[in-house]
Amino acid sequence: MPVVPPVELPLPQRRRAARVILRRLHKLYPEMSTALDYADPWQLLVSTVLSAQTTDDNVNRVTPELFDRWPTPEDLAVARPEDVEEVIFSTGFYRQKTKSVLSLAADLVERFEGQVPRDLEALVTLKGVGRKTASVVLAEVWDDPAIAVDTHVKRVSQRLGLTTNDDPVKIEHDLRDLYLESTWSGISMRFIQFGRDVCDARKPHCWECPVRDRCPYAPKTRRPRVGR
Ligand code: SF4
Repeated sequence: MPVVPPVELPLPQRRRAARVILRRLHKLYPEMSTALDYADPWQLLVSTVLSAQTTDDNVNRVTPELFDRWPTPEDLAVARPEDVEEVIFSTGFYRQKTKSVLSLAADLVERFEGQVPRDLEALVTLKGVGRKTASVVLAEVWDDPAIAVDTHVKRVSQRLGLTTNDDPVKIEHDLRDLYLESTWSGISMRFIQFGRDVCDARKPHCWECPVRDRCPYAPKTRRPRVGR
């Protein structure tokens, strides 16, 4: 099934559709925030790094011990890698993730006195922090205008005709162009949840989709018949 709709709507039409879509997703998900548990920007930053290739629940199972043993960036920067690996083991890719969070902690201490900067350009200079992670932290912690583009945001945006791009940075710019800045921080989490619940990667539930009439994606799926 094609992911990118073949026809790009003119900008005014796309803007109108984009706003209707977001309004309906607000209705579907009135309150949205990350499922990752965190007490401060530092904890969300680390948890977001750990959430790669695993579920938020898995991350939430290990972070209480992680932050209990190494509460600050200063503590984690000097932790023994073997000890950290043991704690975060169940999140998968534990060796790489340990390296990432240890160097992130050291970098934060060295260049930002252990304080998470509230600035996208500064955040992405931190070791192991990409644009997506930085945007999650900015939007979640401070409600700052930022749009994180992950695999769900990308798929949903493409199917809904909000972008014809494939590159996450270009998709982010397309979304910024369609939406008022005051709404940016509420976009990613809703698109992600909608992508998980309804606009599934392999089998979108088009028959129960609240934005079906605004979606150029074809072919739409039908409700599966029971017993077949
Ligand atoms: S109609 Fe189908 S493809 Fe389009 S947004 Fe809804 S679930 Fe996704």
